[in-house]
Amino acid sequence: MLLFYDLVQSDEIEDAYKIEVEGYPPDEAATLDAFKYRQAHAPDLFLGAYAPSGVEGTTRKLIGYVCATLSPASSLSHASMSTHVPGAPSVCIHSVCISPAHRRQGRALAAFPNGAQDLVVDDGQGALRNKSDLLCPREGCGSVILKDGVASLVERASVQMDPLEHTAMSLLPPLPTPRNIGFSKVVLLDGGSSRLLLSCADCDLGPLGWCEEGGNEFWLACSRVSYRE
Ligand SMILES: [Zn+2]
Repeated sequence: MLLFYDLVQSDEIEDAYKIEVEGYPPDEAATLDAFKYRQAHAPDLFLGAYAPSGVEGTTRKLIGYVCATLSPASSLSHASMSTHVPGAPSVCIHSVCISPAHRRQGRALAAFPNGAQDLVVDDGQGALRNKSDLLCPREGCGSVILKDGVASLVERASVQMDPLEHTAMSLLPPLPTPRNIGFSKVVLLDGGSSRLLLSCADCDLGPLGWCEEGGNEFWLACSRVSYRE
């Protein structure tokens, strides 16, 4: 997902507060008044993470934030955490919080400048191993499909996976015992060969890749999973 960062504005404080309430137990969450105070007195220390908005009339949607105030105190106290003192040397970070729907998502392949090459490291034995966990890319799911270091990058032609056409793409085979993978029924391909398509076992999103019927190599399409570094 494309993200960008900007200072949270006063008319976005209620959105930030909703994320706070979703993210912390009631006795730990700040009050709306505390949020308004921090943004009003230390606006440069209230930073938001935004996604483009899909809602007409708005341009961005707040999905997370970090907020802080300044204090001259040398130790943590109610006063040092509740009052902003301009120019003071200590930055008191109150909260770093991401909307639950946007947690555990990792980054998409398109977020890496060199594509799949940025996701692997040479293991010294001729293989390019994945250096990130591979996740289900669905918002709110983010299940770990594969831990880091257990697959290798090989480029080969893929099979057709709706809505993709036949295309060559980078894949990560073979996967050892993929725990979080569901399998489709056998799919017959053009040319008569057959495959099973792979999906997320937690939310059924798929296809994320494929395997041959009866085979023990599992192939994930680099562009269909996300990555957690
Ligand atoms: Zn999933």
